[in-house]
Order: sequence, then structure tokens, then C-alpha cells
Amino acid sequence: MNIILLGAPGAGKGTQAKRLEERYQMVQLSTGDMLRAAVASGSELGGRAKEIMDAGELVPDDLVIRMISVRIDEPDCAEGFLLDGFPRTTAQAGALDAMLAEKGLRLDAVIQIRVDEEALVERITGRFTCAACGAGYHDKFQRPEREGVCDNCGGTDFVRRDDDNEETVRNRMEAYRAQTAPILPHYEAQGLLLGVDGMADIDEVTEQLYKVLDG
Ligand code: ADP
Ligand code: AMP
Repeated sequence: MNIILLGAPGAGKGTQAKRLEERYQMVQLSTGDMLRAAVASGSELGGRAKEIMDAGELVPDDLVIRMISVRIDEPDCAEGFLLDGFPRTTAQAGALDAMLAEKGLRLDAVIQIRVDEEALVERITGRFTCAACGAGYHDKFQRPEREGVCDNCGGTDFVRRDDDNEETVRNRMEAYRAQTAPILPHYEAQGLLLGVDGMADIDEVTEQLYKVLDG
């Protein structure tokens, strides 16, 4: 199964993607994670992306389109993939359609995780992840079972994203409103758009996604 998880920054895409990966044999393809890896590796691409990401703006379409096109060709995507954070502009959505047609692939569903904007700042400013395995947590909504120890791998180092601060979040929400929300009608017109209530707690959102995908 090939799906897109759509939603504002902090809506819960990454959290849910990790839960869906195993159950549906899909690989999570997060352009944000790929770009952060490029920044960390010190590559030329990372160098181009870093300032833009820190400002909460979108990196150029051609750069992420190429990145996804190369990644989808890798063997682990053959069973299915889950796009998280891509497409984010109408140009990216159009390029994805063309790319999938060319590769003989198709989308099974596009699922919007709907959230109230007021909830997003708190979600994003409280987010942290395990430095060793990348498991996601939140200061208030998803604390590790044992304080300071990752539930998944036992790691004790945690990191916060450079762009997870209130100032950048406002720009990211504006980018979502202006550039990403307009792609929803694109998928609605294709009969692919489904939705879940992202204001529910994390487990409930997962249950809603199972229902939508199993249906
Ligand atoms: P996205 O990938 O859409 O940017 P994340 O999945 O990283 O969002 O979630 C942002 C933060 O909010 C994380 O710290 C996560 O633990 C928390 N979170 C995710 N879903 C929910 C939810 N339904 N209720 C409360 N907090 C949530
Ligand atoms: P995310 O991890 O999805 O919150 O993305 C973090 C940042 O990476 C964004 O604020 C953008 O600067 C950049 N980014 C991620 N995905 C894309 C994309 N599809 N198009 C443009 N920029 C992106």
C-alpha cells in the first residue's frame, strides 16, 4: 500500500507513521528526516537546506522531488511506502503524480490528520526524540515510561530539533496554510482524500487510521 499522511506541522504524522509502518509493511519516507540527515552529514544539499529549514520556510521543490524520486526506487519501498511531509506544494503534488505514473505505481489513499492550529505550538515546542533510535516523545503528551530512558531502545540521550521553537513554528504554520493546504483539493478530486481527527489522543488517532486503512 502506498499512502500520504497530510497535516500541519505537529499534527502527528511522524508519530502515526511509525505505528503504521509495521502493520501495513510500508516504509516511512519523511522528507524532513532526509533533509535533517543531509544537514547532519554536511553534504552540499544539507548546506543549501539548513538556513531555509531554520527559518521555517520550504526548501526548493526540485530538491525534495529529486530526493523522493531516488528514494522510492530503493528496494525497501517495493512493498509500500508512506509519505510524511511530502508533497507540500502543488508543484510537488503534480511532480509526484507524474513520477508515480512513470514508475508504474499508484497511491491508495491520502489521509489528512486534522488538528486545531492552537494545539500545534504546544505539540511542537514539547517534542523531543531519542538520539539513538529516533523514537518520538512529548514533554506532556508522550513521556517515556521510565524518566530519561527511551521505551524503545533504552537510550538515555534525547534531542530537540533546531526548528522546534515558537518563532519558527509560526512560519511553518504559515507555509502550511499558504502552500500545503491548497493541495488537499487535488487529492479530493482524485477521490483519494480521507481524514482522521488528530485532536484525539495518540492511541485513538492510531485506531482511526487502522479503521480507515482496513476499510
Ligand atoms: P508531525 O510529524 O506531524 O510534525 P509529530 O508526530 O512529530 O508531528 O508530533 C508532534 C508532537 O506532538 C510529538 O512530540 C508527539 O509526541 C506529539 N503528538 C503527536 N500526536 C499527538 C496527539 N494526538 N495528541 C497529543 N500529542 C501528540
Ligand atoms: P518536517 O520534518 O516535515 O517538519 O520538515 C522540517 C522542514 O524541512 C520544513 O520546515 C521545511 O523547511 C523542510 N521540508 C521538509 N519536507 C519538505 C518538502 N516536502 N518541501 C519543502 N521543504 C520541506
